[in-house]
Amino acid sequence: MKKVSIFWFRRDLRLEDNTGLYYAYTQEKNILPLFIFDQNILDKLEDKQDPRVGFIHSHVCKLSEDLKVYESSILVKYGKPLKIWEELLEEYEIENVYTNRDYEPYAEERDDAVKKLLKSKGIQFLDFKDQVIFEKEEIVNGSGEFYKVFTPYSKVWLEKFHKSKIELLGLDERKKNFLKTEPLPIPSLKDMGFEKSDIEIPPLEIDKPLISKYDKTRNFPAQNGTSRLGIHLRFGTLSIRKLALEADELNTTYLNELIWREFYMMILYHNPDVVDKAFKSKYDRIPWRNNEEEFEKWCEGKTGYPIVDAGMRQMNQSGYMHNRVRMIVASFLTKHLLIDWRWGEAYFAKKLLDFELSSNNGGWQWAAGTGTDAQPYFRVFNPESQTEKFDKELKYIKKWVPEYGTEKYPKPMVDHKFARERAIETYKNALNT
Ligand code: FAD
Repeated sequence: MKKVSIFWFRRDLRLEDNTGLYYAYTQEKNILPLFIFDQNILDKLEDKQDPRVGFIHSHVCKLSEDLKVYESSILVKYGKPLKIWEELLEEYEIENVYTNRDYEPYAEERDDAVKKLLKSKGIQFLDFKDQVIFEKEEIVNGSGEFYKVFTPYSKVWLEKFHKSKIELLGLDERKKNFLKTEPLPIPSLKDMGFEKSDIEIPPLEIDKPLISKYDKTRNFPAQNGTSRLGIHLRFGTLSIRKLALEADELNTTYLNELIWREFYMMILYHNPDVVDKAFKSKYDRIPWRNNEEEFEKWCEGKTGYPIVDAGMRQMNQSGYMHNRVRMIVASFLTKHLLIDWRWGEAYFAKKLLDFELSSNNGGWQWAAGTGTDAQPYFRVFNPESQTEKFDKELKYIKKWVPEYGTEKYPKPMVDHKFARERAIETYKNALNT
C-alpha cells in the first residue's frame, strides 16, 4: 500500500493561496490531492445540464493540468463521500488528511462523519479556515455574542481586517511534496449522468477598473457594473483573501459586499435553522397564499411587470440576475403575490450559477422581511419606481423582454396598489396575533 497524506479539495478549487493545501504542502510528503463528485449533492440536481457541475468538472481538469508541474495529479472519485473514504482506507496507507472548512449544515455533517471514521483508524483530519476572512466566533460583540445586525458587525470586521497581516500563500514549485504519479483518470460528465451546458461562465478575472467605480455602477442592471465573481467565490477558484485585499485598495463599497457575504455565512453557521425557518420566528405565522399558477408566471417571467420579468428571464437564460433585480423580484414574490420566500429561494438555488446557501437565504429573508436586519414588512418595492430609478431608458427590460410594449406582452397579473395594501395588511395581522 502506498503511504500518502491526502489533501481533500471541496469548494477551494485552486492551488494558489489555498490555506489547507499550503499547510499540507509545507508539512507533509507524498500528498495525494483528492476531489469527490458527491452523489448526495448531484443526485438532487434535476437539470442534467447544470452548468455548475460542468464548471466544477472543468476546474478539476485544470487542477490536474496545474499539478503536472509538480509531477503529480489529482485523484477524482464519484460517489458518496463516506463510502469513498472507506475505500481509500483500503487502498492507501493514509498518514494525515488536510482540508478547508465548510460551514454549511450538510458539509459539517459530512465532515463529522469522515472525521470520526478517520479517527477510528488513528488518522488526523486537519481542517483550515479558507473560504472566509473571519469565521465562527471571530467577530462577536463585547459579550461574546454573534451579531444580528450588519452595521456593527461590518465595523468590527473592518477593524480586524485592517489589523491583520494577510499574506497570500503560494506553493514552492521546487519542493516536490505531492505524490509522484502519472495523470490519473477523471470521470467524464457523461459518466456521472450530466452534459455540458451552453450557459457561459464569467471569466476568473479581477477587473480593477470596474471594481474601482463599483459604487457608481452597481445598481444599474443594464450596465456591466458588477464583478460577476460570485461563482468563483462559491467554488473557490478565486481566493477571498486575494479579492478582499484588492477591494480594500480599490473600492470600499465593493469590500462591504464581501462583508455581507461573510455576515450571512456567520448567520447560517450560528443559526442553521434559517434554512427552513424565518430568522424572526413570528414571521413564520404569515399565511402565504402560495398560488401555484401565480408562482409559475413569476418563474417564467410572465407577470406583466417588465422589470420582474426581465430579471427572471435573465436568470433562466444566463444563470445570473443582477442584485438590484434580485431584490425586486424577491419582494414581488413575497409581498405582491404573498408566496412563501422558501419557494423563491428554492427556485433561485436551481438556477443561479453563484448560488450560495447563506447569501441566498439571507437575501430572501431580507426581501421577505423575515430575516436579520431585513427590509421592514411595510416597505414594498414599487416595480415601476424601481424601473424609473435604475433602468430609466428601459435598456435592461428591452434586452430580456423583447416583446415589451407590444400586444404580446401580458397585462400586470395583479394591481400594484391592491397588492401592496394586501401585503401590509396580511403581515400586520399575522404579526399582531
Ligand atoms: P458583485 O456585486 O460584484 O459583488 C461581489 C461579491 O460580493 C459577490 O460575488 C458576492 O460574493 C458578494 N456579494 C455581493 N452582494 C452581496 C449580498 N447582498 N449578499 C451577500 N454577498 C454579496 N449572492 C450569492 O453569492 N449567492 C446567492 O445565491 C445569492 N442569492 C441572492 C438572493 C437574493 C434574493 C438577493 C437579494 C441577493 C442574493 N445574492 C446572492 C447576493 C447578490 O445578489 C449576489 O452576490 C450578486 O448579485 C452576485 O453578482 P456579482 O458576483 O457580480 O456581485
